[in-house]
Order: sequence, then C-alpha cells, then structure tokens
Amino acid sequence: MSDDIRFDLPQGAIPRQWYNVQADLPRPLPPVLHPGTHQPVGPDDLAPLFPMQLIMQEVSQDRWIDIPDEVREIYKLWRPTPLLRARRLEKTLDTPAHIYYKYEGVSPSGSHKLNTATAQAWYNKQEGINGLTTETGAGQWGTALAQACNFFDMECVVYMVRISYEQKPYRRAIMQSFGAGVTPSPSDSTNAGRTILEADPESTGSLGIAISEAVEVAATSGGKHKYSLGSVLNHVLTHQTVIGQEALGQMEIAGEYPDVIVGPTGGGSNFAGIALPFLHQNLTAGRDTKLLGVEPAACPSLTRGVYAYDFGDTVGMTPLLKMYTLGHGFVPPPLHAGGLRYHGMASIICELWDQKLLDMVAIPQLETFAAAITFAKAEGIIAAPEAAHGIAGAIREAQAAREAGDERVILFNLCGHGHFDMSAYDAYLGGELSNYEYPQAEIERAMEALPQVG
Ligand SMILES: *Cc1c(COP(=O)(O)O)cnc(C)c1O
Repeated sequence: MSDDIRFDLPQGAIPRQWYNVQADLPRPLPPVLHPGTHQPVGPDDLAPLFPMQLIMQEVSQDRWIDIPDEVREIYKLWRPTPLLRARRLEKTLDTPAHIYYKYEGVSPSGSHKLNTATAQAWYNKQEGINGLTTETGAGQWGTALAQACNFFDMECVVYMVRISYEQKPYRRAIMQSFGAGVTPSPSDSTNAGRTILEADPESTGSLGIAISEAVEVAATSGGKHKYSLGSVLNHVLTHQTVIGQEALGQMEIAGEYPDVIVGPTGGGSNFAGIALPFLHQNLTAGRDTKLLGVEPAACPSLTRGVYAYDFGDTVGMTPLLKMYTLGHGFVPPPLHAGGLRYHGMASIICELWDQKLLDMVAIPQLETFAAAITFAKAEGIIAAPEAAHGIAGAIREAQAAREAGDERVILFNLCGHGHFDMSAYDAYLGGELSNYEYPQAEIERAMEALPQVG
C-alpha cells in the first residue's frame, strides 16, 4: 500500500474501449416499447432522434466498444482524471476505513458528462448531423453538450428548465459562450411547451417538460438536428465506463482493491461509469465489491418507485422504458440537487437492482449538505450537490467501518464540482433548507397514470 494520496495514470492509459455491461447481464434488458403500439421499437423508430451508430450501441451485445481516435484525443484534455485517497477526511471521521475518490470535476465542463457528450457529438457528426437538441436542469449536461458541439463545429439547442434558467444565469452564459442557443422551458416555441403553459402559465418547468421540447424540435427538424440525452440510455452509461476502468488501474497503483463503491444516482450514468467495470470483476473475476448507489430521499426512484413501463418525459412522447419510476407526472420536489430530480432511472441500473447485483440507499438533503461541508473542509473541494450524495453515502460506509472496526476500502465517484451551485450552499448555510420525503400518496397517484402495457 502506498503513502501517496494522488494516483495518476499517464495519458497513454486512457481506455481504448468502453465496457458494455449488456454482454455480461444474467438476463437481457427488457425491450424499449413504441408509445403508440406498445411493440418493441426497432432501429428505424429511433432514427429520427439518434444516429445509427448510437442506436446500435444501445442494443449492442459486444463486451467492448472501440473509442474512436478523435474522441480519445479530446479525452486527453482532462483524462485520465485523478484518483485520490481522502486521508484528511479519514482523520476527520476517525475511521479505520481507507477512503478513495475519483474526481471527474476536472473536466472542462466540471463533471463526468463531457465523457458522453464528446462521444455523442462525434457520432452525430459522422452521420452528417450538424446540430443537437437537448434539455438541461442543473446546467451540467447543457454545458457539456455545448462544449462538445463546439469541438465539432455543431449547433447546440438547449431547453433549460425555467427555474434553473432564472437561478443560474452563469450556467446559461457558459453555454452561450460555447455558441449554444439556450431557451427557458416551458417555452412557446414547441407544441409541448405551449400545452404546459396553457395549463399553467407560471410553470417553472421540469426536466421531463424540457425533454419533451427538445425531442419535439429534433423530431420535426427534417433530419437537420438530432436529440442527445445526458443520462439514462445504455450508450450513455457505456461511455461513462472510462471512469471505472481508469479507477481499476489507479487502485492497483495504490495497492488496494475497493470493498465498496459509491456513486450518486440521478439517471444512473456516473454511478454506472464507476461501478460497471468493477461489476465486471465481480461477475468474471471472483470479486465481491459492494456497489452502492445513493439517491435523494426527495426523489427515491429506486428505493420507493415501482418497476414498470413508463415514459421518459412528462408529455408522453418518448418510447416506453421499463424502469423503477415515480411516474412521468412526477412533480419535482424542492431539492437543491437538480441533476438528481428525474422520475426514472437507467434501464441497466434498474435491471441490476432488480437482480440484486447493486445496493441502493436514499439520503435526505441536510445530511447530504453536511457531508459536502465535511468533505470540503477536509479535502478542499466544493462538490456539486448531486455529487454530495455520493460523499454522504461514503461517509455512512466509513462510519459503519468504524463501528465494525474494519479497514474497509471505500471508493466513491466525485462526479462534479459545485462552483456554479453556490446558491444551494448559501441556502444550506443560511439554514433555509429542510428535509423532504417524497409523499407516498403522490407516488400512488402517479402509479395510476402509468401507461397500461399488456
Ligand atoms: C447530471 C449529474 C448527475 C446525475 O446524473 P447521472 O446520470 O446519475 O450521473 C450527478 N452528478 C453530477 C455532477 C451531474 O452533473
């Protein structure tokens, strides 16, 4: 075991392939269904929205998918990302646990999202697409896609949840600096937006509504624009596996192997990114690492939702995905981790949870911010509020290790910095935040509105 606290890999160690867990799933993923016919969708159904190479990755059963050279060249701007041992945090917590974290906040966009944004923009460009539409809530995804489109001289159209648009002007300005067009959602530029505004002119928006708008613009662009999603889909999770692959090599340099891996889960992509390469070791190399996802108690899709077919958006335009869902009519609770306020979850994460190959825990908001402050004081990094859920999960593990008196090795994904989320920290420090448990009655009501799939 090393005395160092930072474990770097040379750029030559940037992975050359992504890991596709579909090759190793004990049972195949449930099919994606057409919203009208409820029949499994084929590649042609998805072609208006996504380039064919990404559609093929979505259903690929190949264990390894080559990372295009040009994408890997761009990854060199920030990859390999550092892996650190949080020795000062261990001391603060007075725990015998060894705590490591992989830091994705060093990417130019400030989070892991650029790993897939770069890949998605490249595949679209290859197929002659010159613009992408998308939605953004907290702003991390819109920022990443704006940068990625800029790398390849593509147009970027971002629908930004109105409340974030108003509360986070600097996020908007970053996207605009990279040339993206940013529209607050709901807007009157789409049928979906107009429908919402007619019912509620004061709507502050939601991720689900913004998805409806971005999908509509791509689907009606006559092939000029396609749509890009920053989480949930299989190809997105696959692109993020560069995180876990690098971490495997870095833990080897550190001379340890994780007993538990922790990551926050919104749509599931950063958690999958760090966890799936270790799941591969569990499934094929006799390892037994616990893989722990952390969701907010205010948006507990996996721990309290039901496993059912549901729409990915609010209006009901997307294909039906089988997922643990709180219902597509989910009303976002007052929660300061915008990136975790999604009603569903990636199919891959849902299947793995259903097959008991993952662990999940829901953590309330105040514990999450307290964890973020403890971490910031010890390690000097202000985490994104989403990432703080991973910290809180890791701290719970470290406390359990202290009680059990074991030297548990914990690795968590610090998936983004919080430099544009200081208003949330400000609210926390000013005592304005409270805990919020999503009401059971709301969940039951939303379940009645699930699409009926025979
Ligand atoms: C978007 C985002 C998340 C949530 O998305 P996942 O797909 O679950 O990773 C979490 N943390 C940060 C920093 C994000 O930007």
